[in-house]
Amino acid sequence: MGVLSDRSRSTGRAASLLGLRPKLRPKPRPLRWLFALALWLIASTTQAIQEVRIGVLSHRGSELTLEHWQPTADYLTQVLEGYRFTILPLPFARISEFVEMEFVDFILVNPGIYVDLEVRYGIARLATLNNRFGDLSLNHFSSVIFTRHDREDLQSLADLAGTSFLAVDETSLGGFEMAWDELLRQGVNPYRDFSRLEFAGDHDSVVLAVGRGEADAGTVRTNILERMASRGLIDLEEFRVLNPQPQDRFPLVHSTRLYPEWPFSRLSHTPNELAQRVALALLNMPPDHPAALAGDYAGWTVPLDYQPVHDLFRRLGLPPYAQGFTWVDVLRRYPLGVAATLALLLLLATLAYRIHGLHRQLQGAKSRLEAQHLLILNSVADGIYGVDRQGLSTFVNRAMTEMTGWSAKEMIGRNQHELLHYRRADGSAFPASECPVLITCQDGKARHVPEDLFWRRDGSSFPVEYACSPLRDARGQIAGSVVVFRDISARKRHEEQSRRQQRDLIHQGRLDTLGAMAAGIAHEINQPLTAIAASAQACLRLLDNAPEADPSGRLSDTLATIALQAQRGGEIIRQLRQFVKKEEPVRTWVDVNDLVRQAAVLIRPEAERLGVQFLTRLSPGLPPVRVQEIQIQQVLLNLASNALEAMADAGAAAPCLIIGTGLGHADEVEVWVSDTGPGVSADLRTEVFQQFVTTKPQGMGLGLSISKGIIDAHGGWIELAETGSMGSRFRFILPIQGG
Ligand code: ADP
Repeated sequence: MGVLSDRSRSTGRAASLLGLRPKLRPKPRPLRWLFALALWLIASTTQAIQEVRIGVLSHRGSELTLEHWQPTADYLTQVLEGYRFTILPLPFARISEFVEMEFVDFILVNPGIYVDLEVRYGIARLATLNNRFGDLSLNHFSSVIFTRHDREDLQSLADLAGTSFLAVDETSLGGFEMAWDELLRQGVNPYRDFSRLEFAGDHDSVVLAVGRGEADAGTVRTNILERMASRGLIDLEEFRVLNPQPQDRFPLVHSTRLYPEWPFSRLSHTPNELAQRVALALLNMPPDHPAALAGDYAGWTVPLDYQPVHDLFRRLGLPPYAQGFTWVDVLRRYPLGVAATLALLLLLATLAYRIHGLHRQLQGAKSRLEAQHLLILNSVADGIYGVDRQGLSTFVNRAMTEMTGWSAKEMIGRNQHELLHYRRADGSAFPASECPVLITCQDGKARHVPEDLFWRRDGSSFPVEYACSPLRDARGQIAGSVVVFRDISARKRHEEQSRRQQRDLIHQGRLDTLGAMAAGIAHEINQPLTAIAASAQACLRLLDNAPEADPSGRLSDTLATIALQAQRGGEIIRQLRQFVKKEEPVRTWVDVNDLVRQAAVLIRPEAERLGVQFLTRLSPGLPPVRVQEIQIQQVLLNLASNALEAMADAGAAAPCLIIGTGLGHADEVEVWVSDTGPGVSADLRTEVFQQFVTTKPQGMGLGLSISKGIIDAHGGWIELAETGSMGSRFRFILPIQGG
């Protein structure tokens, strides 16, 4: 829509370029059409002079472009009444944008750009430029590849491999593309074989830079060197043209094939009538018209055939014939960029690999630390667990799982108080508000609880001692607490044993006192008993002499009984005195049957009191054993009294206690004590000989362990030979050799 804008708009040349640029941004089409409509209305109502823009490739800079071409625009303004033509210098990079935006109505560009715009935007050539060289008029042009004259080493295009090269622009036909094609033909790929390929932006800069030695060689379109020389900018002698083409019709030195000169084209939106009038005006322009002289050209000719340019672009794979942009193209065109990108990618990959390695190392270190941490936690015999502020378990160690029966999986995330701590020893509820662990989570104070109770998964409990310490996060805030606890069952058992031993010691002391007193009492009782027995005997003798005093004999019988019982009482007292008196640790040879008989004296009264039948089965002719008599009697008394108590407690139907002796298998004497009681309870059978094992409320659990100690000391052994609901039989063996 560039054509036909209002004459009242700013028409200053620089201002038109600079001032209009911002408006070149694409606008939504409906708005643009509205805008066009408004302008058309204004134009048609005011009969305004219509402005026409001619975009010109400014390959030699904006100033020069305006200087060269504005006179041509003025010529057209002059010839075409009602229009005003202005020149818009366009840099290579912005041409497509201006055409696409329809911001120009005509365009004068090199043939290379022309063929691209022709295919992409449908522009159409109206005339081809007749270039001027001296008196000659040239409508073809070519490219010059040159170096400094003093570069003896650069004689042909092939010599350029490995050198630095300067061209005008990647899209400049005469300033690069023709040379590119020619170089390829000679085996030099500009994108691969030059040490450096750069673009200066305009022709003059290329010539000047090569002249200064900033590049080894360069290329510009034909006629540039000569024009610059004529303006005194360079000395042609300082340059040497490479690959000069054999003399042909073309009078200027050149390095490549010839291509038709720049075409003057209309855009697809440009009105036909205007295009025809412009074409006519150009073709009619005399070669020596001031405008042609100012533009350094010699008028215009009918549009030439641009097929050679199409062919060139096909060979080079350039738009509009680009085969898609391949990686090879990228590499060829931007080797440095690709190298830099690859280097960056390599750097990034190396960094990523290194970071990955570090990450793995860190992960490994973390895992090792965690494993160590776990190992330490799990190797501690005490239970350890952590809770968060809500009392939910965050970690537990192995000892804890073993002590409580809960697995770590079951505990983590659950409220520890509800799992372990919900009841007190007496079975009453333990409120969470009083739980020391939870209180520590709130007040952050460490606590030591000397005795408490934890509950196992199976509902049983065990006594514990524990310490809870607050757990703080990185900011020092309380995050929960850590509890270290110990099962104190063994300690409590030990304490109980100590207490019991203490009690037993006191009891033993009392027994000792009683024993000492018993000796005296026995002595005192023995006197009257002896007197009673003696008196009864005396009375019997008296009655023997006076039988009439007791005709029925009943008095004599009674007196005999008194004498017998007094003797028996005396015997018991004597045995008792013997038993409680302090014995010297001396072993003597005795008949074990005698020991049983002596013990029986003390056992029988108790058996009778309890209604138990007491029998002895003594094997005659046993060999003597060498023992501490009182100790063996003590064993017999212990075994007998256990049997009596068992039968009495169980209310046995026909209670019977038998002590028997016999000869063992080898040289040994066997003594056994059997009863008809309920038998030793099943859970005690293996440990009845251990200290403090008892089932009796008042029992001390020492009788059998003392007995075992005595028999062991005599070189014999004692066992629970039989036990069951029919009764028990304990037996001990004494070696004949005396142990
Ligand atoms: P105590 O008599 O003080 O309990 P002991 O060491 O003499 O201590 O006996 C240990 C336990 O062995 C007794 O409490 C009892 O349960 C069991 N016991 C010993 N002898 C018999 C028996 N003849 N019949 C049944 N149980 C017995």
